[in-house]
Amino acid sequence: MAKRIFRNTFITSLCGIILASLIVMGSFYDSAESQMRQALRTEANLVAQAIVSVGESYFDKFSSSEGTRITWISADGKVLYDSQVDETTMDNHISREEIALALKNGQAEVVRQSDTLSEKTMYYAKLLDDGTIIRVSCGYDTVMDMLIAIVQPMILLLLVLCVIMYAVANYTAKAVVAPLNGIDLESGTMADVRGFEEIKPLLARIRRQNVMIDTNIRELKLEHAKREDFRRDFTANISHELKTPLTSISGVSEMLMNGIIRTEDVPEFAANINKEAGRLISLVNDIILISRLEAEDLYTQKEQVDIFKLALSVKNRLEVLASKRNIKLTVTGRLVDGTEISENDSDIELTVMGVYNMLEDMIVNLCDNAIKYNVENGKVDISIIEHNKQMEIVVEDTGIGISDEDKGSVFERFYRVDKSRSKEVGGTGLGLSIVKHIVMYHGGSVNVEDRVGGGTRMVAIINK
Ligand code: ADP
Repeated sequence: MAKRIFRNTFITSLCGIILASLIVMGSFYDSAESQMRQALRTEANLVAQAIVSVGESYFDKFSSSEGTRITWISADGKVLYDSQVDETTMDNHISREEIALALKNGQAEVVRQSDTLSEKTMYYAKLLDDGTIIRVSCGYDTVMDMLIAIVQPMILLLLVLCVIMYAVANYTAKAVVAPLNGIDLESGTMADVRGFEEIKPLLARIRRQNVMIDTNIRELKLEHAKREDFRRDFTANISHELKTPLTSISGVSEMLMNGIIRTEDVPEFAANINKEAGRLISLVNDIILISRLEAEDLYTQKEQVDIFKLALSVKNRLEVLASKRNIKLTVTGRLVDGTEISENDSDIELTVMGVYNMLEDMIVNLCDNAIKYNVENGKVDISIIEHNKQMEIVVEDTGIGISDEDKGSVFERFYRVDKSRSKEVGGTGLGLSIVKHIVMYHGGSVNVEDRVGGGTRMVAIINK
């Protein structure tokens, strides 16, 4: 950074100085040239006046000012006098540009190569009243010489300035970077902030970001600790849940092996083994599903799912189970425009973008609970309610209900309100937890409410 500041400062000042020098030299050149032009005119006028008052004899004792050359030419171009060259040797000047122009316009100023002296020359010619022409000239190189004369000290000055600029740029770069190096990033402070007021907002931002970083780290640690607790609880719960049916299977099968059980009791004990094995299978299935849901290991493509038809098929599947306790299942729907639909309106579609198997698991779990925790001759109503951007799936039952203090916990893994009843009806304690994951996967939420008139009302809302 210091290098960059140094480079930029140095290059900028160098360019500035070079530009300034060029402008100075340019205007010097301009003024030198116009001074020379002015000097030629003045001298021409003086000489003209002298010729008028003194006459030709003026040139006898004449000496031109240093650097200038005076030529007097007759109206027909003959050179009458020249201050530097013997006029008798000079050819006719009538065709010289400045002479021709002066004859025409009264005066003329021309810069050209001198035929006589072979150098670039500035001429000023003036037509006198008697028809003769006075011409004053000066080597044009004089201007260049003057320019060259100032270039040398300018270059010297430039070099001195370069050294000064180098030192200043170096100092500036270090002075800018030094306070930044003095910032304590941990505390967002500076040892001495005096003279560096502009840094204060930066310090404030560093402090704000430090607070944010601290908060984030704390939250991450908390999250990590929570996950760790969760994992530990989950593992402990799984071991416990698996052990119970296994112990029962192992105990009963041992009794069968040892012949302790009377032949007529064998079917009952075998049924017990079968029931526990069934529990183990559904438990293992649920554990696998929930682990995959939690690890978001289900790269399943979403598709258009007709959730009303899906609810009807779940109802048909669970009807046998429900009929055992004479529980009646119904499916109804409501379109976004308020139209009510019944089980017979199989041509009407209520679709969502989702994963068919997951949504099926969700409705099965909700209905399964509504049957399991229901009373004899009870009712389970499944309603699919369409909203603009969401779909509401409501499963209501006339069962035992869930107390207010348990409502917040039923979606946790392995949570059961009444452990023995849950086991009795074949629950794994994972059903609602799976429902919650599926709903979240579909960008929604699930809630438990009391059903008016007793029982439970489960409301899942997912994105369409
Ligand atoms: P389970 O496999 O034990 O049914 P869930 O996760 O599905 O586990 O449900 C958690 C607990 O919530 C259940 O053990 C039960 O106590 C309670 N519960 C769930 N659904 C209902 C319902 N419809 N009516 C009454 N209680 C319910």
